[in-house]
This record gives sequence, structure tokens and C-alpha cells, in this order.
Amino acid sequence: MAPVHNACVIFNEIPIRYVFRIATPIHVCNLCVHVGYPEPGKTVVYDASQTIDLDTVPLNGGFLMKILVLSIDPWMRGRMRDPSIKSYSLPFILGKPLDNFGVGLVVRSDNPAVKVGQHLYGFYAFQEYSVFRDLSELRRARVLDLGIKEGIPLSAYVGVCGMPGQTAFYAWNEFANAKKDDVVFVTAGAGPVGSTVIQLAKQVGCKVIASAGSEEKIAFLKSIGTDVAFNYKTEKTLDILQREGPINIYWDNIGGESLEAALEAAAWHARFIMCGMISSYNSENDYPVKNLSQIFSKSLTLYGFTLSHLHAKYVDRFYDEVPAMVKEGKLKFNEDVSRGLESAGEAILEVQKGRNKGKKVILVAEK
Ligand code: NAP
Repeated sequence: MAPVHNACVIFNEIPIRYVFRIATPIHVCNLCVHVGYPEPGKTVVYDASQTIDLDTVPLNGGFLMKILVLSIDPWMRGRMRDPSIKSYSLPFILGKPLDNFGVGLVVRSDNPAVKVGQHLYGFYAFQEYSVFRDLSELRRARVLDLGIKEGIPLSAYVGVCGMPGQTAFYAWNEFANAKKDDVVFVTAGAGPVGSTVIQLAKQVGCKVIASAGSEEKIAFLKSIGTDVAFNYKTEKTLDILQREGPINIYWDNIGGESLEAALEAAAWHARFIMCGMISSYNSENDYPVKNLSQIFSKSLTLYGFTLSHLHAKYVDRFYDEVPAMVKEGKLKFNEDVSRGLESAGEAILEVQKGRNKGKKVILVAEK
């Protein structure tokens, strides 16, 4: 067979905002900071120049994957940084393809542990085809169970049945200690993390308050059983929490002013599960929360976490329980699918700006 295209999406430039520029006839001085939103076509670029011969590409004992679905997640913004800046996540490498969780199809294999036709969840380069030596290179690899997969789209395996669903499931079970009638507040409630948390809380019999940034997302929040769903752009979070609280559990996806409101409306001994702070991912400084003294005065407990530390403890239980709940309609999800790798740059920006309508997924190939 003749070689086929093997397009990819390259990390091209760290997002930079020029905060000061002086130009003289002989000299230009730029003072810049590594903040600002990623720009499609600049921060990341689509490159269709590479080809691959699927029949002859050497496997060297490994296997060849065709990538079908890739996840676009908020944490990708934090990976677009100067590699000298330390963080919990590995930085993207300039000039190399982005990578993130996805689902691929095995098209050739010289590895006895990997069978042609299997669908594998794992960590993939943003490239149409890739060769791997063994399953460990996919990090958190999972052979997707064909029995369970029936009725569940592959894309859900990067959302509610993938990393975001794991985040919600692991930390809810580890930290929430929820009881019936507890009042739970969830921000970014319409995303894959938030919407999974909301439904886990409803299963325990909690009263759930959740926020999102559009009327379409509010309708979704109501459809999954949220008791009080509100648009934080048109209503004041603190007013809602003071009317509907006090809150016993706060699931924080946003940080900033929402965290401040949650501290103000927290019940005595409330638990705060600090999952993410997307309101600061593209800015220079975190919002200065003004009422931290509520933590000691109300005897609050704050749990910060990244899911990798909880993975070994919960992963088997997650795959036993969550896809089954999704299949039975007990756990609902919404998706916002973009087609083709060329849409990755725009999709990344949409998630950072909140313009995504559900779990953002790139459909790289149908099958
Ligand atoms: P998501 O909801 O699909 O997308 C992010 C959403 O955040 C946007 O759609 C937008 O929704 C909201 N948002 C964006 N900018 C905002 C701003 N400035 N202020 C308020 N809201 C803003 O994301 P997800 O995948 O479910 O992730 C949710 C959170 O979990 C993120 O903070 C992420 O970093 C975190 N996370 C943490 C871990 C961990 O291990 N700790 C793992 C996975 C994810 P609205 O329409 O509601 O504004």
C-alpha cells in the first residue's frame, strides 16, 4: 500500500502576552509574561506534511495504533509552558506533537500482549498513527471491554469513562464523606468532572447546587438532577449560596471568586475538594481570595489532589462501576465533538474560554 498522510498537531509557541513594548529606530524591547489564551495556528499548528506506510513501518516488537479519539482538557494549558517551570504536569515540548488521553485501534502488532482490532485507552501523541513498543508507553493503558463498550461511544472513554470521570469518582469517594441531605456546591458543573460529581452526589441523596456559564449548560444541569442550577455570569454566586446553603461540600473546579463565595457560605466542618482553578489558568496571578480566615473559624477541611495519586487505589473499581452506570443510563454525559486533528487548536481555546458545550473531544477518525 502507498504511504498515507500522518498529520499531527505541533506545540509551536508558548502563549505569551506582551505587557510592555518600547521601539526605537535601533532597538525593540519587549517585556513579556507567559500568560494569555492559546492561539490556534500560533500556539499549536496543524502539520499535514508527514506520511507513513502502514504495511512497512517497522514495529520492532511493538504495535501500530490508529488514533480515533483525543481528549481536550483544561490541564493542557498548564503544559504549554517554559519547561524550566516546575509543575505537577509534564510540559509540552516545543516542535513536538501535543499529547493527551485518547482511544486508538490496533492496526498491526508484533507484541503478543496486544491484538489487532483491540481498542486501547491511553496517552497518545496528537498524530493520526503512532508505533509503541509496549503497553506501558501508553501510561494508564486499558483494553476497552467490548461487552461494556456496546452502547457507549468510544468518545465517552475520554470523558465520563476516562480521565475526567476518574477525577470525579476517585476524589468524591476519597474525600466527600457525603451523607443524605448534605448540601453540595459544584462549579463548572456541566463539564465531565462536574457533571459526574453532581450525579454521584445525587446518588447519595444530597441537595446539589451547581453553576455553569450558559443557558444551554443550565438546561443540562437540570436534566441530570441538579436541584439548584444557575448561570454564574448572570446571577451572583454568593446570593444563591446564601439562599440555598449553607454548603457542606464544595467541589471547586474554578477557584477565584467562586471559592470566596463558597468559603462565605460554608457550613461548620464543611469539606472543600479542590479539583482545579481554571479561572487562573490563563492569567498571571491567582484571584486574591479575601476570606481565608473562614477556614479556621468554621473548622473547614480543604483537600487538594491530582488524580494520579489516587489512581492505583480506585482504577479497578472505576472500570467495574462507571461504564456499567453509563450503559444503564444512571450516569449521563454530554459531549462537544470536533472533527479532525485540524480542529485541535480551536478546541483547546474553546475549553479555556468556556465555549465548549460539553466534554470536548476530537474525533480523529471514525474507525
Ligand atoms: P470542562 O468543564 O469541560 O471545561 C472547563 C470549563 O470551565 C469551561 O467549559 C467553563 O465552563 C469553565 N471555565 C472556563 N474558564 C472559566 C473562568 N474563567 N471562570 C469560571 N469558569 C470557567 O472541564 P473539566 O474537564 O470538567 O475540568 C474541570 C476542572 O477539573 C478543571 O479545573 C480541571 O483543571 C480540573 N481537573 C483536575 C484534575 C485533578 O487531578 N485535580 C483532573 C482533571 C480535571 P462554564 O461555562 O461553566 O464557564
